[in-house]
Amino acid sequence: MQEKGLLIVLSGPSGVGKGTVRKEIFSQPDTKFEYSVSATTRLPRDGEVHGVDYFFKTREEFEKMIEEDRLLEYAEYVGNYYGTPVEYVQKTLDAGIDVFLEIEVQGAGQVRSKFPEGLFIFLAPPSLSELENRIVTRGTESEEIVKSRMSAAREEIEMMELYDYVVENDRVELACERIKSIVVAEHCRRERVQYRYKKMLEVD
Ligand code: 5GP
Repeated sequence: MQEKGLLIVLSGPSGVGKGTVRKEIFSQPDTKFEYSVSATTRLPRDGEVHGVDYFFKTREEFEKMIEEDRLLEYAEYVGNYYGTPVEYVQKTLDAGIDVFLEIEVQGAGQVRSKFPEGLFIFLAPPSLSELENRIVTRGTESEEIVKSRMSAAREEIEMMELYDYVVENDRVELACERIKSIVVAEHCRRERVQYRYKKMLEVD
């Protein structure tokens, strides 16, 4: 039996640097997992390549993918659709290769309910607590702004609930190292490897 790959989901609040961390991970030659290229209806930015950065779709094309159940998850983010084509993920995992998703938090929630055995990593901003302290103690912001900032910060922290690991993005290289270490550790989980030893014992 082919051992399945691990589904690794990197998510976190907007602006935390998920894209930067993901790009750094995949620029390292020893990275063994594969990146699942997302589909989106947003227009390509300068230098972005179809099939490498995203599969760029029209709204009609994207909605057809939704109808045909070809997305593992999708979300609307700042007026555009973003989603993970399910076929590639399934095929790659079945071949025993780890798949890495870098997606926003609504989508990660959907993956969690469909793929509870996935590895969910929350990328956290390094200075959230300092930010909160600063907002409160500085006292220069209007009460309303302080409130809305605090509530955004609190919501961001609460999102961690859904995740297995939290990685602080204090420095990109350190965040990448932590993520890769988590993946290594996850592969050593007793539940994942025990069956091998059971088989060994059966043979002897
Ligand atoms: P950007 O437009 O800057 O490339 O991405 C905007 C946001 O969409 C980022 O937070 C990114 O993580 C998220 N994103 C990229 N691909 C997907 C996807 O397939 N599904 C979901 N739910 N979010 C995605």
